[in-house]
Amino acid sequence: MELTKEQFIRDFKDQLHRDFIVKINESTDEERFLALAHLIKKYISTPWLERRHDLVEEDVKTAYYFSIEFLPGRMLETNLLNLGILDLVEDAFKDVDVDFSDVVNAEKDMALGNGGLGRLAAAFMDSLATIGAPGFGNGIRYKYGLFKQKIVDGYQIELPDAWLGTDGNVWETKKPHSAVEVKIYGKVYLYPNKEGNFEPFYEDPTILRAVPYDIAQIGFQNGVVNNLRLWDVEIPESEEDKYRTIEDRRKIEDITNILYPDDSSYEGKSLRLIQEYFMVSAGLQTIIKNYLKTGKDLKDIHELVAVHINDTHPALAVPEFMRILMDDYGVVWEDAWNSTVKVMSYTNHTILAEALEKWDCNLFKEILPRIYQIVNEIDSRYVEEVSGKFPGKIIENTRIIRNEKIHMANLSIIGGHSVNGVAKLHTDLLISDVLNDFYQIYPEKFNNKTNGIIVRRWSQISNPLMSDEIDKLIGKEWRSDIHQLKNLEKFITDEKVLNEFYEVKKENKKKLAAYVKETQGIELNPDAIFDVQVKRLHAYKRQLLNLLHIIKLYWDIKDNPDIDMVPRVFIFGAKAAPGYRFAKSVIKLINEVANLVNNDESLQDKLKVVFLPNYNVTLAELIIPASDVSEQISTAGKEASGTSNMKFMMNGAITLATLDGANIEIKDAVGDDNIVIFGMNTDEVYDHYEKHDYNARKLYEENPTINRVVNTFIDGTILNSQSEGQEIYDALIRHNDEYFLLEDFESYVNAQKYINDIYRDKIRWSQMALNNIANSGRFSADDTIRLYAEEIWNIKHN
Ligand code: PLP
Repeated sequence: MELTKEQFIRDFKDQLHRDFIVKINESTDEERFLALAHLIKKYISTPWLERRHDLVEEDVKTAYYFSIEFLPGRMLETNLLNLGILDLVEDAFKDVDVDFSDVVNAEKDMALGNGGLGRLAAAFMDSLATIGAPGFGNGIRYKYGLFKQKIVDGYQIELPDAWLGTDGNVWETKKPHSAVEVKIYGKVYLYPNKEGNFEPFYEDPTILRAVPYDIAQIGFQNGVVNNLRLWDVEIPESEEDKYRTIEDRRKIEDITNILYPDDSSYEGKSLRLIQEYFMVSAGLQTIIKNYLKTGKDLKDIHELVAVHINDTHPALAVPEFMRILMDDYGVVWEDAWNSTVKVMSYTNHTILAEALEKWDCNLFKEILPRIYQIVNEIDSRYVEEVSGKFPGKIIENTRIIRNEKIHMANLSIIGGHSVNGVAKLHTDLLISDVLNDFYQIYPEKFNNKTNGIIVRRWSQISNPLMSDEIDKLIGKEWRSDIHQLKNLEKFITDEKVLNEFYEVKKENKKKLAAYVKETQGIELNPDAIFDVQVKRLHAYKRQLLNLLHIIKLYWDIKDNPDIDMVPRVFIFGAKAAPGYRFAKSVIKLINEVANLVNNDESLQDKLKVVFLPNYNVTLAELIIPASDVSEQISTAGKEASGTSNMKFMMNGAITLATLDGANIEIKDAVGDDNIVIFGMNTDEVYDHYEKHDYNARKLYEENPTINRVVNTFIDGTILNSQSEGQEIYDALIRHNDEYFLLEDFESYVNAQKYINDIYRDKIRWSQMALNNIANSGRFSADDTIRLYAEEIWNIKHN
């Protein structure tokens, strides 16, 4: 946008004056942040307002991305960057003597998501606007985001994240005039009407008022502003009399209160089902109303509308779309179904059996009586359609209602035209294994869309030093065309350049070290290897394997204090789902091992372990630029894609990885010499499943190193963790080590030795790092979303 620094300073002073009646030098950082955010909203109000009107007027097909999670983190810098005024604002703040970073830090981290899935949804919002595509988000305005994690005596404590405060979210705008009603519970009877169709009659439903809050999604320097719509619940005025006590009202308000803090596992709570229906129904009602403004026939709605189901949580979009078309607008079943399948598409995010969402029929029927009828009908028609054409077993495995449960993935696949996995390996596994029955029926629906990241956030915003260094070498064009990073390969043998990148990394490590010192009181040596594993805590992600190796190093140094090794700092960040006992025990053990190691002077600072509490996007932006080693060590075949792996490589960390998820594509991008791979591949893992021949106890008994490391959990070496240590021991030995840590242990130890050796060769290490940076452009979410736009939604983009 066109703006001079002088004009900005005038606008900003005016805004502060009007909002808070203060002068700049008297204002707090929070007031400055809020005034700046208000000013940004003012700058974009016209394109934001006109976007939707233009799309309706010009009959442009629009995609709606439905997701129960959006994890944008802070938005101030991204918004300024995308408007093209980040540098100008930073400069202006210097002129008026305000520290810009303090203003940035005044923003709360918007954490309406658990991890990768929610972060991807937020990334796609930025990318859709950036490629100029008509793509809007639809989700829930949780009053409490993902819990805040504190560590007390080594244990995870969860605190509520009341991120909205008393004044709400500065980026949102409430739109009461666009509120709609959503019905749940009650009974539904179908009566034949004059046209011979059935019309539903609702007896005693609970009626909810869904009120939208819109958040602008600003494209990167292209004037486009899309919309993310988050729904909040209210009691409709007409229903006020029914809710006389605070308790009664709370039952309704609870619907949008909390984000379920589970990652990679499914929890069958009725409140969650209501959340899912609430956001889907409100979103679809609005989409259909907007479509009707074009004056077109409803049976052609698929020509202008695409709805994406991000994981199965919004899968009720399928029956709800049918319901609205049929019950509210009188479209006949066949036409409604034809449109529904063409409108809907679905992304699968997991192959873990425990994460596949299914609902008990009785609960479902009670909460969503009309939707249950429709799902039943979809299921019977599906069975009828495929009967005789496919073996009975395949039909049984793929139907929606089975064993008194509604299978949400099956509903999403049958009710849509596209199913995609999120990395090549993941899609291959869906096709060959998890969803193979469906693949036999609908091969044409399957496709891959490897995840991507917002490259601007993970370079320009989070790593300004590296970005300046890149500018010096290849000019600034890479900031708008990320593929130009490839030009960095020219410098791969230039020692001066390599040294400069090494120094940039060191500066970032010092910055992180200062944060660690301030928050944890632990002193870190910036010449040590910063070895980082930050992600949700889950058994399949194998933080425990990392810890086993740390314990091995501990014993190595204890046995031989003169051991020649590069000092190593292991950094963890990870939230565990509050009910996930094993994961919480791993956190406790990491913290107790950290106490053991960090307080043992005989280790001479060769080993440090840091657990940084409350890992979130903001912390990721500090940690990732300071990392030397990126730990991506999940059991092969378990991590659908990963996205932090891409962020680390973009910041010049070397990936230490199994052949899992997008690690494989990172390996293809950087070449075998610039990544460190270890462990079993998927075939080897599957081979164990088939042969049932894995024997963790044997490895434990026969391999003295494994024996000693595992015994450390139960022999009293690690203090204050007797029961957790026993639990971990049992998981590994008595319950046969479900994720094959012990099998991969030796290979992991060797890979870590290799890392130690190459780190000593500063030039070689820096070459690997630069190669990673140069080849990270291919993981841009802008490119990923272009493929969604072209191959799934059929929407236009620039
Ligand atoms: N959590 C947060 C806060 C993130 O920023 C990210 C990705 O950057 C993730 C989780 C996902 O990490 P991973 O891909 O390692 O699972």
